[in-house]
Amino acid sequence: MLPAVASSEPNSALHSALRQFHAAADRIGLADQQRDILTAFKAIYQTRFPVEMDDGSFRVFDGYRVHHNAARGPLKGGIRYSPDVSLDDVKALAMWMTWKCAVVGLPFGGAKGGVVVDPRAISAYELENLTRRFTAEITPIIGPDKDIPAPDMGTNAQVMAWMMDTYSMGHGYTIPAVVTGKPVSLGGSEGRYEATGRGLLYLLEEHLQDAGGVRGKNIAVHGFGNVGGVAARLLQQAGARVQYLCDRDTGIFHPQGVDATAAFAFVESGRVLADWDGAGERIAPDAVLEADVDILVPAALENVITAANVDRVRAPLIIEGANGPIGPDADDALTARGVTIIPDVLANAGGVTVSYFEWVQARQYMHWREQQVNDELRRLLTDAYRAVVARAMQAQDCTLREASQWIGIERVIEATTLRGIFP
Ligand code: NAD
Repeated sequence: MLPAVASSEPNSALHSALRQFHAAADRIGLADQQRDILTAFKAIYQTRFPVEMDDGSFRVFDGYRVHHNAARGPLKGGIRYSPDVSLDDVKALAMWMTWKCAVVGLPFGGAKGGVVVDPRAISAYELENLTRRFTAEITPIIGPDKDIPAPDMGTNAQVMAWMMDTYSMGHGYTIPAVVTGKPVSLGGSEGRYEATGRGLLYLLEEHLQDAGGVRGKNIAVHGFGNVGGVAARLLQQAGARVQYLCDRDTGIFHPQGVDATAAFAFVESGRVLADWDGAGERIAPDAVLEADVDILVPAALENVITAANVDRVRAPLIIEGANGPIGPDADDALTARGVTIIPDVLANAGGVTVSYFEWVQARQYMHWREQQVNDELRRLLTDAYRAVVARAMQAQDCTLREASQWIGIERVIEATTLRGIFP
């Protein structure tokens, strides 16, 4: 374990997370002591572990699991596989998870994990070996009452199945509640795969209810994986025009709307967007961020809108599917221009919300129907959205980001105060 101190490099996700925290803390009038408690990381686990590759050689990988704050309950957060993931990123993502769980009212604290690997550059067997080896490393610090991982960028239901299996066999019996985002046939929840994208749709419908909902709106979606791909498909099915979409290699534009449903079915079948032959002009992926649309959905990764491109961002409404896609300076510039931002800790909370439902089902050995999952998801997200909007309206010049963090921080402080010395 490393000493759990919060520091940050400029332009890192952690820098954004800390700046956002202090902006909200200024509004709340938090004392230095409370800031120290809330910016401290409960534990930082860092490991280097060898994995046997297909040719019989061994490669050493770096992995992290960060526990931010456990005042409100067991820790919850995804595991990211990416060649670019750093300890600072994982710390930022863990802190955002704390506020996210609190703002939606879930009984969890915030955690996150990552392995420095490009999952597309290794074989399926190597991916399984790596996952099982990493799971063995973090087995002492995870568990259904301690810390419950889930998928994030570069991981999926199959990775969660391997994690659940490895953890379970270490204990001698099956423990489905140790991870969420599992395949439905292994105790995963109906609706979990779509949950983050569906949450974005529900929040947009609520936000735009006096403006005709999403029907007929022009949309740009940056990132075409679990969050962006599902969101694009659901938005198209709800009557929106998805004019722009992209993955890391290819952007596509069509003025009448790209067929997001067909494009995502193609990608889900294991192929890449660049090979899809549907209608639309091929453009650079980052041009999607500058699209002249009603709604921009950044749904790929952190810090894609920064001081370098913010002047070219034209959408009047941005809903953050990804965590931390807007850097702090760009956030200030967009706010000054009157752009509405539905912030990540609220916007993409659908994933962890249905993860919570999955955990509850696993603990009760129950299985909910998809309609029940979606109805409860809509209820929790709508309640959270209304509370955030009410808070922003009560205060002066308060953004939805500040209001979300304000509510999240306030709830964590309340739990900390009620509990006393621990956790
Ligand atoms: P994913 O791996 O399924 O998909 C990521 C997508 O982004 C891919 O289409 C990839 O090609 C694209 N991408 C990567 N780099 C890009 C770049 N430079 N430019 C354009 N596109 C790029 O990941 P995901 O699960 O969809 O996660 C995306 C974001 O949403 C992350 O910030 C993640 O933390 C956040 N998030 C995910 C969930 C979830 O349930 N999966 C929940 C909440 C938040």
